[in-house]
Amino acid sequence: MTGGTIKELVVISGKGGTGKTSLAASFAVLADRPVIADCDVDAADLHLVLSPRIRERHDFRSGHEAVIRRDDCTGCGTCLTHCRFDAVRTNGRIPGEWRFSIDPVSCEGCGVCVRFCPEQAIDFPERLCGEWMISETRRGPMVHARLGVAAGNCGKLVSLVRREARRIAERRNRPFIIVDGPPGIGCPVIASVTGATLVLVVTEPTVSGEHDLERVLSLTRHFDIPAAVCVNKWDLNPEMSDRIEEKGRRAGARIAGRVRYDPSVTLAQMQERAVVETQSPCVEDIQRIWAALAHIGARPGSRARQGGTSMRIAIPLTNGRLSLHFGHCECFALLDVDPDEQTILGREDVWAPPHQPGLLPPWLAGCGATVVLAGGMGQRAQALFAEQGIRVVVGAMVETPEKIVSDYLAGTLRSGENVCDHGDSHDGRGGEHGHQRT
Ligand code: SF4
Ligand code: SF4
Repeated sequence: MTGGTIKELVVISGKGGTGKTSLAASFAVLADRPVIADCDVDAADLHLVLSPRIRERHDFRSGHEAVIRRDDCTGCGTCLTHCRFDAVRTNGRIPGEWRFSIDPVSCEGCGVCVRFCPEQAIDFPERLCGEWMISETRRGPMVHARLGVAAGNCGKLVSLVRREARRIAERRNRPFIIVDGPPGIGCPVIASVTGATLVLVVTEPTVSGEHDLERVLSLTRHFDIPAAVCVNKWDLNPEMSDRIEEKGRRAGARIAGRVRYDPSVTLAQMQERAVVETQSPCVEDIQRIWAALAHIGARPGSRARQGGTSMRIAIPLTNGRLSLHFGHCECFALLDVDPDEQTILGREDVWAPPHQPGLLPPWLAGCGATVVLAGGMGQRAQALFAEQGIRVVVGAMVETPEKIVSDYLAGTLRSGENVCDHGDSHDGRGGEHGHQRT
């Protein structure tokens, strides 16, 4: 976490039952002081794992429903004639003494009967559609909800839950919001992902899982939301897992990692514990995924250039470690450091921009970077970075960003050869040269 901004990770899947909630609960345990939001309002079950103690309950009202006042109704039948949703009921037995009522499940709240009733005998109150709650869990505050039977507009309820979670995060200065999103690609999913820092799509290695992933990623692409992919139970079909990850990459998603098939996940749920609170073999898979996601930021900031003594160092990454292929890296780690104290002040990861000749030097300058530590880079690309006031140090080894930066600050950066020292014409994601493109 850097800069005091709140990061919101939304875990979704193309269909239910993929392990989405198990992962969301584990992230809630691994995250630093999170606020938790269960946006799967149609089938909420995060509470089964996190055992919330409810502090506040609120009605959720949305839309309207027609209600006939018996005493004022003359039984003219106009409402029955006009209702297109077959929601008006009558006893139909005794002509002249018909009693009309409205079936609340069938009523769509269109208001036509209210408009045409000659006696103005129909009330039109807001409809009670469910309730939402603010609770405390062992991992922090949680906002969750329950939608009433046959109640619609759950997109509105999802938005409300997210809004409340953000309000709590701001008020209590909590840096993370972990959202268990709804399955599918409908209105509630759109409501749960818009404006999120990152969406993690959980899928399984099946044909339908592959198809669902494509649908969900087309949605995140359409709304320009950063997405990552996780294949759950990957070892049940390794070939399909490879295929799904390749599709995810081609769709512009980051591959967050894989979780093995582990029957003890069900046992953890029955014990009301998150998987990472157990000794399950898959715990290390989930921890690795969290490590890959926790530093991701929504948009690059420019703190280092906004004053102070800190500077910002950019490092190209693949799978959480330095990428030797500068122009093909998944993302950049931006580390703010205090060179005098030789300390790392914070880290933010940002997605690498789409390939475009000459883009990276001005783009990283816009992110506030003043130093790039890379495995290799051509002379021309280094000159383009220099024009942006960015110093390039090449020859860094494949290590974590923290290790590379610590060594750099201590003056002990162990350098290999410049993997691209060919006197080439790389231009900061410009030309091609053998295997490397910068
Ligand atoms: S239109 Fe009004 S008065 Fe006529 S049956 Fe309906 S509720 Fe009663
Ligand atoms: S509000 Fe619309 S849907 Fe409901 S009973 Fe009246 S006409 Fe029918």
